[in-house]
Amino acid sequence: MYNFNINIKKTDRKKTVSFQVERGLVKVLVPRHLDKIKLNKIIKSKSKWIKNKLSKVDEILPSRKKDYVSGEDFMYLGKHYKLKIVKGKKYNIKLSDKYLTITIKSHTKDDKIKRILKNWYFESADKYLKETTSELSLKHDLDFKSVKVRNYRSRWGSCSSMGSIFYNWKIIMAPKKIIRYVVLHELAHTKIHNHSPKFWSYLKSIYEDIEYPKTWLIKHKNILEI
Ligand SMILES: [Zn+2]
Repeated sequence: MYNFNINIKKTDRKKTVSFQVERGLVKVLVPRHLDKIKLNKIIKSKSKWIKNKLSKVDEILPSRKKDYVSGEDFMYLGKHYKLKIVKGKKYNIKLSDKYLTITIKSHTKDDKIKRILKNWYFESADKYLKETTSELSLKHDLDFKSVKVRNYRSRWGSCSSMGSIFYNWKIIMAPKKIIRYVVLHELAHTKIHNHSPKFWSYLKSIYEDIEYPKTWLIKHKNILEI
C-alpha cells in the first residue's frame, strides 16, 4: 500500500509516531494503542517528507568486482585512477596524474595484487587521517588521544570514551570534503559521546552541510572497495 519499504514497529515507549529513513528503509515507531486509520493518515501526511529523504539515497551504487587488471578504475581521495600493471623486480605502487601504477613480479596472483594494493591504501589512509585529525583538532580545539586505521565492515569511524579514534581505511577513497566530515564527526565525539540533538547541532556548527556527506557515504559505500 505504500510505494516505499516500510517497517512499522509498535512500542510502549512512545506517545507519538516517529519516522526514520535509513539506507532506503522507512522505520516507523508507533505507540502500541494507536489505531490503524489514524496511523495511515499520519503516514500519508508524512509521505512527501519520506519520498524526499528516500530520493536522496535511492540510487545506491552497486559494488564492482575487481579483476586487478590494467585499465580498471580505482579511487583515491575522490579522484579516479586507472590501474596500470607493470612487471619489475620489486613490488612498488605509484600514484600519478591518471594512473595508479603497480609494479609486480611475473606470475603474481590476483589476491597478492589485492593485498599489495590494500597495504598501500591502508598506509596512505593512516598517514592522511593522522594529519587531518591533528589539523582539525587544533582548528576546533578538540582533544583526542590517538588515531588508528582499521578494517571495518560497516562503519567509517569510531571514538572511544577515552578519545581514541579509529577510522575505516576505505574512507581514503572518498573526496577530501567527505573525509573531513568523518574526521570532524569522530572528533566531535571527544566532546559529546552520543548522537543526541546536542551532538548534531555541534557538528553542524563546525561542518557546513552534514546531510551531504551522510547521503554521499550511503550512496557510494559499495564502490569504496578495492
Ligand atoms: Zn557517531
